[in-house]
Amino acid sequence: MKIIEHPDAMQETALAARAAGRRLALVPTMGNLHEGHLSLIRLARQQADDVIVSNFVNPRQFGPNEDYAAYPRTFAADCRLSEAAGADIIFHPSAEAMYPPGSSTIVAEESLSRHLCGASRPGHFTGVCTVVAKLFHLTQPHIAIFGEKDAQQLRIIRRMVNDLDFPVTILAAPTCREADGLAMSSRNRFIPAALRPQAAGLFQTLNAAETAYQNGERNANNLLTLMQQTLARTAPDAVVDYLSLVDDETLQPLSGAFTRPALAAIAAHLGPPRLIDNRRLAAEA
Ligand code: AMP
Repeated sequence: MKIIEHPDAMQETALAARAAGRRLALVPTMGNLHEGHLSLIRLARQQADDVIVSNFVNPRQFGPNEDYAAYPRTFAADCRLSEAAGADIIFHPSAEAMYPPGSSTIVAEESLSRHLCGASRPGHFTGVCTVVAKLFHLTQPHIAIFGEKDAQQLRIIRRMVNDLDFPVTILAAPTCREADGLAMSSRNRFIPAALRPQAAGLFQTLNAAETAYQNGERNANNLLTLMQQTLARTAPDAVVDYLSLVDDETLQPLSGAFTRPALAAIAAHLGPPRLIDNRRLAAEA
């Protein structure tokens, strides 16, 4: 496995591999890898000749009061885990190499980004789109893999690829969970031990919504009330950022009766960390 730090070297390597007819997969990560990330790398391994894992804590997607400096960085362990899961190349650039002085171009998605996490994290998805566009140019992937855990991010990246004609196929990977249902996340380690049992409340809340939906509930207000009650019961100390039911395609908030597939989504603080989780509600699911 090769570690590449410089963006130019990454692009030269990727262009040469493509010219040699190799099929490339990219798995973008911010490092501190857990089983969720590794499942994406394993999926990439099945789909491509060369698997590139980017390992870059992107400063542009953190707000001024967010945890960029404190974000866990465990590069040596990440390298071992990436290699074992099937990575061929780790792209590990510095922030200065990715954003040299004078860098002033951004990629902004202006519709899906207004909702859910975009509403409470202004600029976050512009940071995500900008770095993913750069990563696509630098690693030249045929396919790129993103987790359903970050459902809004996945939808925004699909939209960006479509709108800006990137020749990349986006694959979605299911959310990996702890035994009690908590979605794996690099931020879970910061949940205070006393509050940890409540973290499964997000999962239980989404389960409640899905069960009601499968039993025929199609009124958004009823589903939202059920979700609020379930979260209040299962995670009384959670400080809710949002608890929403949105159209799965447009991410517009739903109210009253709905017919199209929906996305139930939650963001809540449990102690310092902000946890997110979601569930797609669709008749065919
Ligand atoms: P991150 O390092 O948090 O930027 O995540 C990198 C990629 O891993 C993103 O596509 C995430 O959606 C995905 N991911 C994060 N957590 C999980 C999880 N628990 N299960 C599956 N994929 C995940």
